[in-house]
Amino acid sequence: MMMTGDQYRESLRRLHRDIYYMGERIEDVVDHPATRPHVNSAAVTYDFANDVETEDLGSTTSHLTGERISRFTHVHHSPTDLVKKVKMLRAIGQRTGTCFQRCVGHDALNALFGVTYDVDEKRGTSYHRRFLDYLRYIQQTDLMIDGAMTDPRGDRSLPPSKQADPDLCLRIVESRPDGIVVRGAKAHQTGAVNSHEIIAMPSAALGPEDADYAVSFAVPSDAPGLTYIFGRQSNDARRLEDGDIDLGNVRYGIVGGEALIVFDDVFVPAERVFLCREHEFAGSLVERFASYHRQNYGGCKTGLADVLVGACVAVAEYQGTAKASHIRDKIVEMVHLGETLYCGAIACSVESSRLPSGNYFVNPLLANTAKLNVTRFLYEIARLAQDIAGGFIATTPSEKDLRNPKVGPLVAKYMQGVAGVPAEHRIRIGRLIENMTGGTALTEAMHGAGSPQAQRVMILRQANLDHKRRLALRLAGISEG
Ligand code: SF4
Ligand code: FE
Repeated sequence: MMMTGDQYRESLRRLHRDIYYMGERIEDVVDHPATRPHVNSAAVTYDFANDVETEDLGSTTSHLTGERISRFTHVHHSPTDLVKKVKMLRAIGQRTGTCFQRCVGHDALNALFGVTYDVDEKRGTSYHRRFLDYLRYIQQTDLMIDGAMTDPRGDRSLPPSKQADPDLCLRIVESRPDGIVVRGAKAHQTGAVNSHEIIAMPSAALGPEDADYAVSFAVPSDAPGLTYIFGRQSNDARRLEDGDIDLGNVRYGIVGGEALIVFDDVFVPAERVFLCREHEFAGSLVERFASYHRQNYGGCKTGLADVLVGACVAVAEYQGTAKASHIRDKIVEMVHLGETLYCGAIACSVESSRLPSGNYFVNPLLANTAKLNVTRFLYEIARLAQDIAGGFIATTPSEKDLRNPKVGPLVAKYMQGVAGVPAEHRIRIGRLIENMTGGTALTEAMHGAGSPQAQRVMILRQANLDHKRRLALRLAGISEG
């Protein structure tokens, strides 16, 4: 059964977890001002699947049961499925103006579907059957999953087992007949505090000496031994104030709400273990997950770019600059950059290929190119938005001043743009631009789904430079014999 957004919120209230923020325990992520916007944003993925206007993108048919399921629990069985994922992410991004978090779990399901099959083929294990049982469970319950890959990693020059502290990457510390015990942490976990499940995966290719780190599994997010420490974001103290203007996007917040998850000897039952010391498959699990997730960035970030373009159109009207040719040029430039991101995501979907397991995998060269573009173009889109909007997005007095009986009329009088448009409209759109183009939002565009260097490594691996070299030699008339 697919959940609605409200059912999703209620389901989170039933989880009992140790979540900390600003040195204090969060009792209920649905109501706490620090986490509420992220819950609202993820809830949009649920309502989107149920809305008659968007159900074709938001939901689909399970290849396992034939039932209607959320696309976020679906395994891609054609290039069209992958294209629809991108369109869905763009459409949801247009509604939230920020990260809605649920894609990481979706990508973990798709990566594990293929890799568990590959491990079984080579090793005679039975991970794929286990995984299919889990997938059926997720499709039936419509749970939100945190796809947890990034280890804290400590000294980047050393492999996991050579770290001074062996817990800096998540590892198996005990094998039991009925399962395994894991210890360590996952960092920067988008949507972790409002997910029902966590799927952990290794974060790098691993050698035999690091076999204990080659582990993938699923646990409920309230499993004993898990602690969450929720990260700060730019301007997050504004969430604790009254009013709704200064936040810019009061309902959905900024980025995904990232947390450090600590696994303190967490038991994982055998039926939820999907990789257990088969170190030679860690690299392909990382590549699959990362490529699926990098595909997304040309979808969700394009949706955000659509919102920013719209904000710039509005602010230019409010300020009387809409007809200036340089403003129109800059808006065209923003559209061009946004659509270029989208092109990459669509292209890597159309150029996807069928895996031995039967599901489809994006073209990794194009998916990594799409994400690398995000690390540049979203900054450029943000730069243009700040250029068009003007400095007031960084200097506007607070909502409290706007509401103050003495200085409020002064703020309104001097923040006025064109006559006839309330100053509050200009302030609101300025705050939205501030929210979407500032600190945390841009860092996420850079490092979310892996840092630019991670994309470069994969681009180099896929680039087939030898083929390109031979093309050049042929035209230059060089025969090397
Ligand atoms: Fe989804 Fe990642 Fe985009 Fe967030 S940043 S909406 S999790 S693809
Ligand atoms: Fe992200």
